[in-house]
Amino acid sequence: MAKEQKSRQSARRSKKTAKHRRASSESAPALRERAGAVVAALAEARPARIELEFNNPLELAVATILSAQCTDKRVNEVTRDLFQKYRSAADYAAADPEVFQEEIRSTGFFRNKTRSIVSFAQALLDRHGGTVPDSMERLVELPGIGRKTANVILGSGFGRNEGIVVDTHVKRVSGRLGLSAEEDPEKIERDLMELVPRAEWSDFGLRMVQHGRYTCTARKPRCDGCPLEELCPSAYSFG
Ligand code: SF4
Repeated sequence: MAKEQKSRQSARRSKKTAKHRRASSESAPALRERAGAVVAALAEARPARIELEFNNPLELAVATILSAQCTDKRVNEVTRDLFQKYRSAADYAAADPEVFQEEIRSTGFFRNKTRSIVSFAQALLDRHGGTVPDSMERLVELPGIGRKTANVILGSGFGRNEGIVVDTHVKRVSGRLGLSAEEDPEKIERDLMELVPRAEWSDFGLRMVQHGRYTCTARKPRCDGCPLEELCPSAYSFG
């Protein structure tokens, strides 16, 4: 490695160490201010975009269940045909599990996902006349729907800010940014909801997912050029 490049990296690491010390002793008002700057910088750098393709809340719910442990790209490939065949909760509820499993096989965990989708659709018919409800309380009572999935449906399907999606990306990035020291997704979500204005909850979640996918990746975060570098206590502390 060139001498100049080495010294640049070392300078960045020292800068990071100083920032990390500041972040660990950060006051609540300072954290709130920094979080506001993170929200603004992310909004400037990334569109609030969901990569799953859907036309209505039912399709979004099915796509979100299918997306567990699977890429959105693969889910979209599968749902292009699936959504032509299954158009209502009644269609999913009446699905032959053996056939449905084959139709979604490439998304992985296809037996569990089939059970979840069929039970979800049956519960929609029994309790909500086949319509996806638009409240957190009613969504999380449905089989196959946890708080994370409910947040996706509410934010991107109904445009409602009821919470913040915390998936594996949001969990990792929130920790690195020092916005939450928690491990449990619901506790992380509570921390983020304290720091982020309610009107931004859904968009912020979508942007954090994108940021974790494409910049603040698990193994090799791209700190050089990251739009949050100046605000991040973990910048350049990897590798
Ligand atoms: S990529 Fe680096 S600077 Fe950006 S948020 Fe992640 S750890 Fe921080």
